[in-house]
Amino acid sequence: MRDEAAALLNWYDAHAREMPWRVSPEDRAAGQRPDPYRIWLSEVMLQQTTVAAVRAYFLRFTNRWPSVTALACARDEEVMAEWAGLGYYARARNLLKCARAVAHDHAGQFPGTYDALKALPGIGPYTAAAIASIAFDLPATVVDGNVERVMARLFNLHTPLPEARPALTALATTLTPTERPGDYAQAVMDLGATICTPRNPACGLCPLQRFCAAHANDTQATLPRKSPKPEKPTRNGTLWLARHRDGRWLVEQRGPKGLLGGMLGFPGTGWDSAPNHPPITANWQDIGEIRHSFTHFHAILTVLTATTAAPPEHGMFQLLNPDDLPTLMRKAYNLASPALLPC
Ligand code: SF4
Repeated sequence: MRDEAAALLNWYDAHAREMPWRVSPEDRAAGQRPDPYRIWLSEVMLQQTTVAAVRAYFLRFTNRWPSVTALACARDEEVMAEWAGLGYYARARNLLKCARAVAHDHAGQFPGTYDALKALPGIGPYTAAAIASIAFDLPATVVDGNVERVMARLFNLHTPLPEARPALTALATTLTPTERPGDYAQAVMDLGATICTPRNPACGLCPLQRFCAAHANDTQATLPRKSPKPEKPTRNGTLWLARHRDGRWLVEQRGPKGLLGGMLGFPGTGWDSAPNHPPITANWQDIGEIRHSFTHFHAILTVLTATTAAPPEHGMFQLLNPDDLPTLMRKAYNLASPALLPC
């Protein structure tokens, strides 16, 4: 094992973060093994989201569906509703596809190799490596944003991202040990999240300081370099929020593919690819706008409201739990609900 990996594992033994899906280094040394289902679920939830945001979702999911087989039997709408607010809804759809593939094709057990994991729906190279190393203790190299940052600094690599990605992966691979690879993968992630942070890395507390070329050259604040991102475009559109006199809201289940696919939402137009018209003839009132950023664009949506008892042309009136709405729709709901009290 390289000295860097040994130093990092020693640090992890003393400083590992507690997480509901994690087996601590002491428990692991005592023979406890992580549940691949919990590792997979946490890794899918953590893509593009922070540990703090994921914790409550993870606990709710695992209370309700304690195994991959239980999740595979869940109805799509139940899972989409539990996912509401985590964003990137394609992940929730793939989550269900993957659970069903594991239940049907692998007798409810996650396969224990990188290649077989990567062949499952929604599992890319990063997630396959994370499950292979953390759940199965295989020496797969896990490379996320934290690991890229640590490697760029440790080796003082000034090539900007994303061009630097293959080189950073190769460097990370040279450090991955065959002993305790699962703990090592979590140790690098923890170091990146708590010590080698994007701003003001705490080099004085870092177990890698004596190996770190960026620290020696005082370049850590400039690394990793990044190519400038193109400006995100803005799309303007409309959402129609109608409430029946009996208190129900006019909603629609969005189609399975595309933005917020499979989620509950209010009819709208101009911000996604589906042109649309008002779902009902009514005296629509403009009550303001909401703003929301997606990965590839910003949306500015005018919110129109109406109280009505007329039958809708599309969508359906139903009682609504705002917690079942994705964030964009919840913003519109929060704006409209004080103006649409039931009569
Ligand atoms: Fe990051 Fe500083 Fe540690 Fe280098 S010494 S790995 S820059 S925290």
